[in-house]
Amino acid sequence: MTSGDKLFGRLLGRSSVAPPDIIYPAQPATGLQLQLDNQGRVLHIGGTLRQQLAQHLTRDPTPLLRDLLCTHSALVVEGIPTDWQRHSLDLDFHGAAGQILHTRGAIEPHNDGWLLWALDIGDLLSGRQTSQDREQNHQLISQMSEQLRVCSLTRLPEVFNEHLRSLAQRWHIPCVALALLDQQDQGWLIYSQYTAHDAPTLWQTGQRLGTSLDSVNGNTSLSLNVGQGRSEHPRLHSVFGNADGFLVPYRDGQGVAAWLLCGFYTGQQQTSERDWLNLTAALAAPLLGRLREQRHHQQLERLEALQGLLGTGWWELRPTRADIQLAPQLMRSLSLEDGPTRLSLATWLNLIHPADRQELNSRLQDLQALGKPLLTSVRLQRTDAAGLPIWYRVQGQVLGVGENRRWIGFMLDISDIKNQQLQAAAAHARLDNLIASSPAVIYVQRYVNGALLPAFYSDSLLPLLGWTLAEATHDSLVDWVHPEDRDLYFERTRQLLREGSVRSRYRVRDKQGDYHWLLDESKLLRDDLGLPVEAVGLWLDVTESTQAAQQVKDSEERYRILVEDSPAMICRYRPDLTLTFGNTPLANYMECQPEQLPGMNLSHWLSEDQRQLFVQRIHQLTPEFPVSTAEISLQLPGREHAWWVWSDRGVFDEHGQLQEIQAVGRDNTEVRRSQQQLTQSAKMATLGEMATGLAHEINQPLNVMRMAVVNVLKRLGNGDVQVDYLTEKLQRIDAQVQRAARIVDHMRVFGRRSEVEQQPFDPAQAVEGTLALLTEGMRGKGVELRITAQDHAVQVNGYVDQLEQVLINLIVNARDALLSKRENDRAFQPWISVHTEHDNHHVRIWVEDNGGGIDPRLLERIFEPFFTTKPIGVGTGLGLSVSYGIVENMGGRLSVANGEHGAKFCIELPAVEG
Ligand code: ADP
Repeated sequence: MTSGDKLFGRLLGRSSVAPPDIIYPAQPATGLQLQLDNQGRVLHIGGTLRQQLAQHLTRDPTPLLRDLLCTHSALVVEGIPTDWQRHSLDLDFHGAAGQILHTRGAIEPHNDGWLLWALDIGDLLSGRQTSQDREQNHQLISQMSEQLRVCSLTRLPEVFNEHLRSLAQRWHIPCVALALLDQQDQGWLIYSQYTAHDAPTLWQTGQRLGTSLDSVNGNTSLSLNVGQGRSEHPRLHSVFGNADGFLVPYRDGQGVAAWLLCGFYTGQQQTSERDWLNLTAALAAPLLGRLREQRHHQQLERLEALQGLLGTGWWELRPTRADIQLAPQLMRSLSLEDGPTRLSLATWLNLIHPADRQELNSRLQDLQALGKPLLTSVRLQRTDAAGLPIWYRVQGQVLGVGENRRWIGFMLDISDIKNQQLQAAAAHARLDNLIASSPAVIYVQRYVNGALLPAFYSDSLLPLLGWTLAEATHDSLVDWVHPEDRDLYFERTRQLLREGSVRSRYRVRDKQGDYHWLLDESKLLRDDLGLPVEAVGLWLDVTESTQAAQQVKDSEERYRILVEDSPAMICRYRPDLTLTFGNTPLANYMECQPEQLPGMNLSHWLSEDQRQLFVQRIHQLTPEFPVSTAEISLQLPGREHAWWVWSDRGVFDEHGQLQEIQAVGRDNTEVRRSQQQLTQSAKMATLGEMATGLAHEINQPLNVMRMAVVNVLKRLGNGDVQVDYLTEKLQRIDAQVQRAARIVDHMRVFGRRSEVEQQPFDPAQAVEGTLALLTEGMRGKGVELRITAQDHAVQVNGYVDQLEQVLINLIVNARDALLSKRENDRAFQPWISVHTEHDNHHVRIWVEDNGGGIDPRLLERIFEPFFTTKPIGVGTGLGLSVSYGIVENMGGRLSVANGEHGAKFCIELPAVEG
């Protein structure tokens, strides 16, 4: 042991051994030498330290040693010097400048008294203090570090805050904060801060500091007094305001990751830069580590949630054994919930559908042996609830090299996509099939320098035109277009480019040389700048429909010609009788051009009565019974009268409302005229036939008048003429003249042509007229006329003279039958009954005789014209036929049956309603 070592050991107070061999230094010795008496009184002070003592020796009173010492040191020298021998004495003297003079020394007998000498150990002690402080700091720091490392993540901010507070308190820093690099926007963020209660708050937790701290060079400025660095670091100035302070960086692998900010801190504490760096590192390193851990944890949680949501998860092949580890989420989505997360490769492969299993296995081997990345889609053995396959995408890769190689990957449930893909593919295939088998060709023409070049044709091109895609070039297409339609085709392209879409129709030649009518609909697609890119279009084979349309057009033309050239009048008119169309014959009758017909009104040519009848008839048309036929009479320009047989057909809308009437008419005037003539001549024949009866009819009043005249003349000859007698005779003659005149009058009326139009009249009028003509004649022939009373209650429409003519015919026919019967039977009593009855709708006039009736074999034929059973020159065979026509023309019916006594005819006529 060297003497120096011994000294150092003693100074450190590590030795309590006997006083070392002291080598007394020559005067003046270093340190202090005090001579003491046996009582401990200080007799003399010497040595170099003597000047530093507060108290100098005074003779009276002589101070005790302990009076020179600080109170705590005085205890060391209790008692008397003899007690203090063989001890190392640490004595603190009051210094002259008020300081304490730390010394260490020993006492020895000297002459009669004692000699105490002591050396200054102040430096030694302060060094010890520093190292103690450092030790304490170190302990505190590592404690903090440790606590930050072990506390729960939730308590981390709280724990950190506590540490920041104790740090501030220990080093007397008014404001302290830790700023961390913000992950998101790369600026600095105050993670935590502490401010003493009497200091202004410089920072808030969570406050953003921007990037100002980046400009502080962490490498050179371990600590930086901001007051001095202001000019160099203007941004720091703004961070700290006008406060003093400094920053301590913490650097990790990536650079400065944290700053400890100390504000209002002047740094009186004797703490080295290294200590500050250590302190900051001790706080920041575990904190950053924990925060990283937290982030990692959150990321893991997110990842797990994501895997769960996506039905995905990682897998890892074990390098040595043939088994595989799966993420728990994957286990669950594979329905392996209860098993361990590690399973044999075979078990895993068994989950895969046999159709995909082998391929997957082989790819796994490629991955392991060759490092070939794995990417495939597989089905599971099981299906989902709906029986659809469950698809997974399996992807894998090699991580690391050599010994550290790992094979990891993931499985992702792609059933939705895959099934949709399959459905879409199926739909696509169906669509393709549909397009291929449809008469439509879809094409794409690319726009190149103003021209449209064929780029694509759907497969239906071949079945439609027989051309293959290769044959369909730009030039050949023009070649296929029918020469007559080429101009159309070029115009179609120009219009397409100009207007963006086009629809045209032209003929295209197929491989056999036949032409097809194609409907071409095309649309131009443009890019963002509005420049043409391509035309997408479709060809539809419309040959059949075009031909059909042509046929319809042709048949329409034929129909038009038919209508135009028809001898019949054809027209269409609205319910208000305004014509919308009329053909040439109609126009001819109306003495105008067919074009002039639309707008004319039919009522223009009808009398008011005819018009009413016409409108009434039209309004009776219904969708169920849309057709009505009638004979109408018109007053045409420049003609006497026209009779048209007119058929109407109503056209109705969906509500059953009459929209229009189509009509066909035939001029019946000639027929009607001849019919009228026939009726007239039949009437004349009747008259002729009645001549005998009429002669009798007129003879009767003539006879009466002659008798009266003879009698008057006789009286005049006798000169016996009385006025009364004469007056009576003349009145009788007058009555007979009137009677004859009536008969003649009626004859005249009857002989006239019928009115042109039908009029309502009382049928009883016709019966009376008939009887006026026939009664006398019948009586002359011995035929009884039985007439039932007439009631004049109803009217019928028609011609009174014609009905009279019918009645005359029936009665005359009955008379003929009766007279021929009486020829064989002189006792036969012939009679004819005329009986009228009516209800609301009809009037029936029965004419019956007791002539024995008509042979049933002839019943059906008697209404035929010229049918007669009478000898030639007697019968005309026209009576019943004309009568039938007259009754029918009046809307009625003439019928016959054999009654009990003879033939029974019935005239049934519609009553005029209202
Ligand atoms: P005509 O009287 O000139 O023969 P009609 O047409 O009037 O022509 O009559 C046709 C035929 O019908 C008659 O020839 C007759 O045979 C028969 N006939 C008509 N009325 C009667 C009747 N009341 N009884 C029997 N036969 C009749």
